[in-house]
Amino acid sequence: MHVLITGGAGFIGSHLTRALLERGDTVSVLDNLSTGDIENIRAFAHHPLYSFAIDDLRNELVLDRLASQADAIVHLAAAVGVQLVVERPTETIETNVLGTHAVLAAARRYRCRTLLASTSEVYGKGVRVPFAEEDDILLGASSRSRWSYAASKLLDEFLGLAAHREYGLPVTVVRFFNTVGPGQRGRYGMVVPRFVRAALRGEPITIYGDGEQSRCFCHVRDTVRAVVDLLNCPEATAGQIYNIGSSQEVTINQLAQTVLERAKSTSELQHIPYSEAYAPGFEDMRRRVPDTTKINRAIGWAPKSDLNQILDDVIEHERTRLAEAMPSTPK
Ligand code: UDP
Repeated sequence: MHVLITGGAGFIGSHLTRALLERGDTVSVLDNLSTGDIENIRAFAHHPLYSFAIDDLRNELVLDRLASQADAIVHLAAAVGVQLVVERPTETIETNVLGTHAVLAAARRYRCRTLLASTSEVYGKGVRVPFAEEDDILLGASSRSRWSYAASKLLDEFLGLAAHREYGLPVTVVRFFNTVGPGQRGRYGMVVPRFVRAALRGEPITIYGDGEQSRCFCHVRDTVRAVVDLLNCPEATAGQIYNIGSSQEVTINQLAQTVLERAKSTSELQHIPYSEAYAPGFEDMRRRVPDTTKINRAIGWAPKSDLNQILDDVIEHERTRLAEAMPSTPK
């Protein structure tokens, strides 16, 4: 299969690229390197089944050419990370909505199997836990820019499902829940790489709010396996939305404690108010737990890695990076 991955230089995209190349698939990556990183894809540069275009999704000619060669498109390119969303809401909305519009238009021209990445953010504050795909959605006021991310991804979902309904395009939507693992950057707010890096450097670990908010962290390896299996099942899964996430729920305080233990770190834990971490009036989700019954029934998927395994992988990766970044000691 020839797969076009938009956002392929990002964290999930680069793990997906590796998994597909290992299976013998051909992979084209389109990424403008806004939040993606060339480091993530350097390893594939000379792979015979791999090609890479640094360009924006809104460059129609490039997108059209790449789509014309592909059997399937995995659309991961998006503005992500709570911090980025709060700081640059206009860019977030435009990137997400216009980007998805462009991808679906190209997919329709060439009848590509399409997988759209969405997010657990679309559940907003949630009406009940765990979150199931058919649940109602409760977003905060539009005066709070955090919710622009959820609203933009929700519109992406509507566009994708409409393309399936109206034009028979085999589109599947996946809602990722806190995907983490080696190679994720902490630049835009992601908690696991930030905690691990602070722990390894002996710097304070900064917990936002009271730390009793909870999340379920899913190993990127498990997430990628779900994506690949869904790609291979267009008949059963087109026109559907699936949660992809772990059901092992931890509070951010527990996460910080576990990072300290696994990294054997003595970093101190600091709590700071949300208003200091993001912006005044910032609203966080208290709990975010996926119901994964639907994807389990459809393709038999369940995550394999628990939090300790995830943290051990991230710690090992960050230790190596840290050692590489240190100037070597003169003899
Ligand atoms: N968080 C934190 N310290 C950090 C970064 C994040 O306490 O340095 C908290 C954040 O407020 C949220 C949780 O960790 O409650 C997960 O944050 P992340 O940005 O990773 O993902 P989110 O679930 O918010 O999209």
